Amino acid sequence: MSRYLGSVCKLCRREKEKLFLKGERCDSSCSLDKKRGKNFPGQHGALKSKMSDYAKHLREKQKARRVYGLTESQFRHYYDVAEKMKGSTGDNLLILLESRLDNVVYRLGMASSKKMARQTVNHGNILVNNKRIDVARYHVKSGDVITFPEKYKQNAVIKKLIEKKVSNVPLWLNFDKDKIVGVVVNNPIVSDVSYPINSQLIVEYYSK
Ligand code: SF4
Repeated sequence: MSRYLGSVCKLCRREKEKLFLKGERCDSSCSLDKKRGKNFPGQHGALKSKMSDYAKHLREKQKARRVYGLTESQFRHYYDVAEKMKGSTGDNLLILLESRLDNVVYRLGMASSKKMARQTVNHGNILVNNKRIDVARYHVKSGDVITFPEKYKQNAVIKKLIEKKVSNVPLWLNFDKDKIVGVVVNNPIVSDVSYPINSQLIVEYYSK
């Protein structure tokens, strides 16, 4: 399945939840805060529908997929990897998703949205331990140092972004605003996951 290129606000309306897909812009203006935004997208969006169990499982999986901006096959791949790991498949899945490099760049405040974070990584503008990493699915680990190449640090957009962000950096990460350097203090645990996702529903969805 190809990547979704339509309005991301529609995805939030479909899940009836704010998924914060536009990053900081979601704080100031969100269609879900308006009356029309409370309906499902489409012509019959205002009609109420009762969700079946299957639909609940599907919606939770779709929500997680959308929060991390993954295609179905990418998401399924993460699930398969999580299933082979020791411990809870649901917990493993969330931790794998949370430790993706594009997600970490966003959570460090080095990008204003996950989309921008992915572009920044894909364009080769992120260094991990002083090596250029241009793969958004790269998994960070404890002790990794994340920064921009020197010339990119001088970019006016980046300077402005760094200046106003960094207050929401989670405890498993640290960001030095003066040096513009992020550090992975610890590997993330389930309670560090940025968005409330019921991973058990996802496990049940794929187990059917
Ligand atoms: Fe979702 Fe953000 Fe659009 Fe609101 S503004 S509907 S949270 S993407």
